[in-house]
Amino acid sequence: MSAPQDANAKFSRVMLKISGEALMGDLGYGLHPPTVERIAREVKIVHDLGVEICMVIGGGNIFRGLQGSAQGMERTTADYMGMLATVMNALAMQSALEGLGAHCRVISAIRMDEVAEPYIRRRAVRHLEKKRICIFAAGTGNPYFTTDTAATLRANEMACEAILKGTKVDGVYDKDPVKHADAKRYDRVSYDDVLAQHLGVMDASAIALARDNNLPIIVFSLDEPGGFKGILAGEGTYTTVHG
Ligand code: UDP
Repeated sequence: MSAPQDANAKFSRVMLKISGEALMGDLGYGLHPPTVERIAREVKIVHDLGVEICMVIGGGNIFRGLQGSAQGMERTTADYMGMLATVMNALAMQSALEGLGAHCRVISAIRMDEVAEPYIRRRAVRHLEKKRICIFAAGTGNPYFTTDTAATLRANEMACEAILKGTKVDGVYDKDPVKHADAKRYDRVSYDDVLAQHLGVMDASAIALARDNNLPIIVFSLDEPGGFKGILAGEGTYTTVHG
């Protein structure tokens, strides 16, 4: 891992986790290409500073396993459909990043060699060293998990210094800030408090995996222009989940 060119940047290798819903803009479903491109620009700005970037994108804008199983579908099949949804989102993001001139690889946990590279850890590390953005698709490759856990797993495997979780709000609040005007944002909150208070940062298995490996999670707003770059310089509002 080399030092980032921007002396202000706090991290040299990070995992950016975004939900599938972040890519649908104001649409109720699917992909909104201008929104995908807007996020790609945010990523490119940070990448241009020399920060090595891993990404995991969810699939909730297209399909979630739990929804499918609630409608009577067999759970593991529904989960595989969710994992396939993440591949579509990853390809959309790859296309947008490449359109901006960034080098990018989609790396899938489920083999589909015509579409994406298979996940081979050392190869992925090499891509990062060669300044290629790595988008890890198809989650962990296993049903009963989420892409939050996939992001935490890959962040550990890739030796990322932090997980940056881009959301619609600028951090972790004691209650839903959309519903409660008096909700308070934490600057810092421990993994254990997130779990005990059900603060909804990520699912419990992802939080536990981050905690056991002391991997900080930084929750910030993706809707803030320049927000991703600012967070890496330690600016703006965000919450750090820590040990
Ligand atoms: N999924 C899975 N295993 C994984 C990651 C994801 O089975 O390791 C499935 C699961 O059905 C999930 C769907 O893929 O609902 C989409 O992922 P997620 O819900 O995490 O997407 P997000 O909410 O971040 O958009």
